[in-house]
Amino acid sequence: MRQVLSDVLGGHRLTEAEAVALLSARNRDVWEIAAAADEMRESRVGDAVTYVRNQNIHVTNICKNLCGFCGFGRSPGSEGAYLDDRDTILRKAALAREREVTEICLLSGVHPDFTVRSYEDMIAWVREAAPGVDIHTASPEEIVYAAGKSGISTREAITRLRDAGLGTLQGTAAEILVDSVRRVICPNKIDTATWVRVIEEAHRLGIPSTATIMYGSYESEADRIRHLAILRDVQDRTGGLRNWFRSRTCTRTRRSTVRGLRARGRQGGRIS
Ligand code: SF4
Repeated sequence: MRQVLSDVLGGHRLTEAEAVALLSARNRDVWEIAAAADEMRESRVGDAVTYVRNQNIHVTNICKNLCGFCGFGRSPGSEGAYLDDRDTILRKAALAREREVTEICLLSGVHPDFTVRSYEDMIAWVREAAPGVDIHTASPEEIVYAAGKSGISTREAITRLRDAGLGTLQGTAAEILVDSVRRVICPNKIDTATWVRVIEEAHRLGIPSTATIMYGSYESEADRIRHLAILRDVQDRTGGLRNWFRSRTCTRTRRSTVRGLRARGRQGGRIS
C-alpha cells in the first residue's frame, strides 16, 4: 500500500485494481491513505475552498421509476403524492433568494407527464423569482425521458434548457454506473452508457454538471471503483464535472433494498 501511495504522489495514475486494494484498508492504514490524499490536495489546489449556497426545491415526488431503494418517489394519485404549481415554485424560489442562495436546485421525481417544455417553464419561473441565481436541474434520466416525451434528441433538449437558463445539469441518477448493479437497484433508469453520453453532451454544450454515487446497497467494492473510473474518464474527456456528491443508503432503505434483491434473486437475478 505504501508503495502505491508513494507512486501516486509521484505522478502515477491509480489503476482500478490498486484502488480496489486501497478500499480494503482498515485501521491505521486508512489514515495513511487520508494523509496521502491530503498531500495531493495541497499540491494540486492549495487551501482555497469554494462552495455554493444551495436551496433544493422538490417540485414533485411523483415518479415513473419507483426505484426499490427510494423513500421519496410516489406513483400518481397515491397517498402523499404532490406536484407544485407555478405559484408555489415562485414562492419557494423567492424565499430562496431572500436567503441569498447562489444556486437553486430543482430536484424531483421523474414525473411521467413532464416534457422539455415543463422544464423550460420551471426554469423560467425560477429565473423570474430569483434572477441571477444558478439553476441546477434535470438529471440525464430526466433529460432522456423529457426528450422522448417531446420527440426530440437529448442534445436538442439540453440546448433548449440551456437557452431557457439552465446553469448546471444534475449528475444524479448515477447511483452505481455498473449495469449489472443498475438492473437490480434501479431497473427503470437509463443504463451507464446513456448516463455518460448525456452528461458529456451537456458538457460539450457548455453546461457543466455534478456527479453522484449512491453506495452501500448491493454493489461490490470493485463496482464502486468502476463507477469512479468512469467519472474520471468523463472528466479527462470534457473537464465538465464541477463536484461529486456521495450518499450512503440508510439502514432502513438498505433493508428494503435487500428484501427487493432477495425477491429478484428468486427470479434469477445476481445475488451475492
Ligand atoms: S428516479 Fe429518483 S425520485 Fe424516482 S424513485 Fe428513483 S430515486 Fe426516487
